[in-house]
Amino acid sequence: MRVLSGIQPTGRFHWGNYFGAIQQYIALQDEDEAYYFIANLHALTTIRDKEHLSQLTYDAALDLLALGLDPARAILFVQSDVPEVSELCWLLMTGTPMGLLERCHAYKDKKAKGMAADAGLFTYPVLMAADILAYDADVVPVGEDQVQHIEVCRDLAGSFNHKFGEVFTMPKPQLLDGSAKVPGLDGEKMSKSYDNTLEVFEELGPQKKKIMRIASDSRPMEDSKEPEGDVLYQLYSLVATDAEREEMAAMYRKGGFGYGDVKKSIVAAANQYFGAARESRQDWESRPDDVRDVLADGAKKARAKAGEVLHRAQEACGLKLS
Ligand code: ATP
Ligand code: MG
Repeated sequence: MRVLSGIQPTGRFHWGNYFGAIQQYIALQDEDEAYYFIANLHALTTIRDKEHLSQLTYDAALDLLALGLDPARAILFVQSDVPEVSELCWLLMTGTPMGLLERCHAYKDKKAKGMAADAGLFTYPVLMAADILAYDADVVPVGEDQVQHIEVCRDLAGSFNHKFGEVFTMPKPQLLDGSAKVPGLDGEKMSKSYDNTLEVFEELGPQKKKIMRIASDSRPMEDSKEPEGDVLYQLYSLVATDAEREEMAAMYRKGGFGYGDVKKSIVAAANQYFGAARESRQDWESRPDDVRDVLADGAKKARAKAGEVLHRAQEACGLKLS
């Protein structure tokens, strides 16, 4: 089985990205083969600043390596290092009905809000289909919001195969555990766009300040309280051990605790939880050549596979002279 997933370098990774996606990707790296790419071509539709995009792409590589993505077990590469994918994208585009893309929600939502959309956003599902099909991926771990795009990919692969023969492997989505929806500092879903994030590799000082400023429940703290719906408890649960979490839940139910103490516990548990990754990040940071080697090696392996699939597709649709 071959697993593939991409993550956009549109900002530094936050706890939502980690617990909602990255942690689960990393757990899947022991499948037969795992391909993970940093989707800088997709990010280019939103980040239009040279230094910023290349820095975020490099940071994403460092972050993923530090968080446990193991180049010995998974292929890590940068999307634009595999030009075969863009070429495959064109082959797919020639058979993509406009209506199919008009129904895709990323574009539809932006349009509905009266925002200007470009062709990159409109055709984004086709590039995503090429990303997946180029590596004969069987399984694509995604959040619920991406399931529609996997359907588009299956549609495009199916109609290409129907017309030109069995060229593409049909991928299946594997839904990431949605229960991992991480709340942000304001209690809404944690998201870059809401500016309510705790970044995984944020400096400890500023991170502590953010945590200490989270607005806590106005109910008197003497009262007993159900922990489940409380943002502080939810954040703590992510980074605490099982025993710590149970102890905290018992404290909520008993009442008489201080939210300041809960916040301090989050800070301490987070330092503990991400401590090893922070150290690993510093280590990778001191070896930029090794990071580049990992990405170059990943790109080489990815290109070999994508080249094979592209060749198959080109041959099937008459682009190779016989
Ligand atoms: P944007 O605001 O631009 O949408 P984001 O902060 O929501 O950015 P994405 O790039 O959309 O981050 O998400 C990357 C991955 O992280 C996706 O798989 C998404 O499902 C997951 N993810 C993002 N935020 C959360 C969250 N709060 N809880 C769980 N998973 C999340
Ligand atoms: Mg999002």
